[in-house]
Parts: sequence; C-alpha cells; structure tokens
Amino acid sequence: MMDIQTLFIVNIALGFVLALCVLVVAIRRNKQLYLWSVAFAMHGISYILISLRGQIPDLFSIILANLLISSMLAIFTEGLYRFSEIRPPRLLIWWPALFTVVTFWFYIENFEMRVIIGAALSVYQTGLLVWSIARDFHERSGQGKWIIIIAAGISTAMFVFRAGVAATGDSLLLDIASSSPVQSITFVGAIVGLIMFAFGLLVIYMEKAEQVGLSLALNDPLTQLGNRRVLDIALNYAMSRGKVKTVSALIMLDLDKFKTLNDSYGHALGDQLLIEVAYRIKESVKAEDTVVRLGGDEFVILVIDIGNDLIGARNNAATVANRILQQVAKPYHLLAQLENQSMSPLKYECTCSIGVNLFQGNSTSREIIMERADVAMYKAKQEGRNRVVFAEGEAAC
Ligand code: GH3
Ligand code: MG
Repeated sequence: MMDIQTLFIVNIALGFVLALCVLVVAIRRNKQLYLWSVAFAMHGISYILISLRGQIPDLFSIILANLLISSMLAIFTEGLYRFSEIRPPRLLIWWPALFTVVTFWFYIENFEMRVIIGAALSVYQTGLLVWSIARDFHERSGQGKWIIIIAAGISTAMFVFRAGVAATGDSLLLDIASSSPVQSITFVGAIVGLIMFAFGLLVIYMEKAEQVGLSLALNDPLTQLGNRRVLDIALNYAMSRGKVKTVSALIMLDLDKFKTLNDSYGHALGDQLLIEVAYRIKESVKAEDTVVRLGGDEFVILVIDIGNDLIGARNNAATVANRILQQVAKPYHLLAQLENQSMSPLKYECTCSIGVNLFQGNSTSREIIMERADVAMYKAKQEGRNRVVFAEGEAAC
C-alpha cells in the first residue's frame, strides 16, 4: 500500500510540471497548446483542493475540485477536435462540467453517489475524447492516437473500479485521506493516465508538425495540387519499373492568353481561375493519377500505365487530354472586385494548349520526357492553341 500523502504530492507536482512543459512548447508556436497547459494545471489545482478536504469549505474541496477535473477533460477533448480542424461539439463536451456542479451540490452529503456520478461522467468524457480521435481515424496516421486511447482506457478502468467499490457501499476504502488499496490504485491510475496522455498529445503534435512540413514541401499553396517535387517522385516511380512494358503518358498543359486575365482584372482574379482550373483537371482524371502545378499557368498530369502498347496508349491519352481540354474550356464564373470594392460576377472563358509525351519505363531520361511534352505543348500554341499535340518520335521510346 502506498502512502496517500506522497501520491497526492506526486499528482499535484505532475499536473504543474506538465503544465509548465506544455507552456514552454506553446510559447510562440501554437495558441492551442496554451489551453492544454491550463488543463494540466487544473489537474494540479484539483488535487490540492481535494487534499484540503475538511480544512476548507466543501464548495472548494468537493465542487470546485470536481468542476476542474471535468473542465480539464472538456478542454482536452475540445483541443483534440480543433487539432483535427473539426468544429468541436460544445454542448456534448461541456454539459458534464455544469452537471457536476449541480449534482455534486445536490449530493453534497452523499459520498458514494458523488463517486458513482463522477465516475459515470468521467467515463462519458473520456469516451468523447477517444471519439474525437477515432472519428478521423483513417486519416490520422501515426502512434499518438494509440497512446491517448490506451491512456483513456486506463482512466476508464480506474473510474469503473472506484464506482464499483462505491456501489458496494464500502466508503471507508474510498476515504480521501486513507492509504487504502482503492485510493492507491486510483491515484496511481491518475498518474499513469496523465503521463501517457501528455505523451500522446506530444506525439500527435509532432506528427501534425511533420505532416504540415511535408505538405508545405510538396504542395502548391495556391491550388493545393502537388508541386514539381511530387512530379519528380511520380516520374521516378514510373521510370523505375524498367521491366514493365506498359506505356505511361506525361501531359503538359498551359493556359492560353492567361496574362490577359491578369492584366485586365488583376492577379487575384487570375488566382481564382487557376484554382478552378486545378479543380477541373483533378476531376477529369482518376484519383491515382498525378496532377501538379509546375508554376504560373502550367500544369502537368502523369498517367502511369495508360495502355499496354503505343497505339492503345495513344488513344487513351488522347481521350484523357481532350477531356481535360473540354473541361478547361467551359465558362468560369469568377468574382471580380470593382474599384468601389464591391464584388461583381464575371463570366470568363479560357482555353488551354496540351502537349502529350508517351514513354515506357526508363528508356529515356526524365529531362527528355519533360522536354518532349513541352515541345509538343508549344507546337499546340503555334498551331492556334486550344488543342492537343502529341510529341514526335515517341515511338522510339
Ligand atoms: P500563352 O497562350 O502563350 O501561354 O499566353 P499566356 O498569356 O498564358 O502566357 P504565359 O503562359 O507565358 O503567361 C503565364 C502568366 O501567368 C504570366 C504571369 O503573369 C502569370 N502568373 C504566373 N504565376 C501566377 C500566379 O500565381 N497567379 C496569377 N494570377 N498569375 C500568375
Ligand atoms: Mg499560358
């Protein structure tokens, strides 16, 4: 059996140490973390209040202490929702805090009832916290979520155990000041759960930072398509399969007279068009095809394994390229800002020129594949724009 005073001190110290650590990480990095720091401090304060039971009014040692624990769980859940960029369901998250105040006030003389209600609310809140992670489970890769789920499992087991003891009516075992085995298990559970939870949060935070860094390195910030690096990776993959005899297509697209839109209506309107063009291209191809914005008004689509032989591949590539050509040529409904700052709808039409180069495995270099598509695209411009031109000499690939 462990000394209850020591366990109190460990819980209090742990809450404040974690709050301080999170605070240090939060400074100038992420406002969200400030809130988590406050939540850890709440754990410390609640244990101080509980340890003073009998010496200070019940309003503080019972009601405020439990309100702090309930609010701590609510803040963690709300934080996890916001971290996943999902709007937190405030009512579902915060009602237990209010309910704690009301019911604990009502049962101020009934210790067992308070333990049972407190445990039920905590199990609900922990469940909601797990749900906030589980709902976008498939999108969230990494280990952080597992650590938090295990921490939630430990806390739940502890609450259920306490409620079970309270239901049997053996309240002496639950006495706050006694070093009973039940109290020892409860407090050790709280310590282990809190450490694991803090660790899980840290891992999730690092995983998210890594994800953001990766997306900054690989994404075009305007259209959210991939950038040149993504094309390099995809092309390397297509070419690395030297033995594969299927044909792939590199489709290069450049908008026609795009400068006119920029010059007449401003850069912001040009940006609107680029975003819409990116969306239309993406919608015109399969999800597994690579679509990138090389820069300016230039896009590249890489379709791996578009056909088993050159003739089939050429037909398929022509179908895809013409589909894109048609989609891009459909009218755009943009919003132009007038001189008096009001917005006015603007219908705009814009075509594109496309160059296609077919290639097989690594029979040519990446640079030559790109150059041939580029030359074909410029030929499409010279021939009058709004058309698809295939690179010459691809049969040699
Ligand atoms: P062409 O038919 O010969 O392609 O004529 P064009 O006017 O489209 O000429 P070009 O492709 O050379 O011009 C691309 C223009 O795209 C040049 C630049 O002003 C504009 N541009 C480049 N990056 C951006 C951007 O991020 N946003 C906007 N709005 N415009 C951009
Ligand atoms: Mg252009």
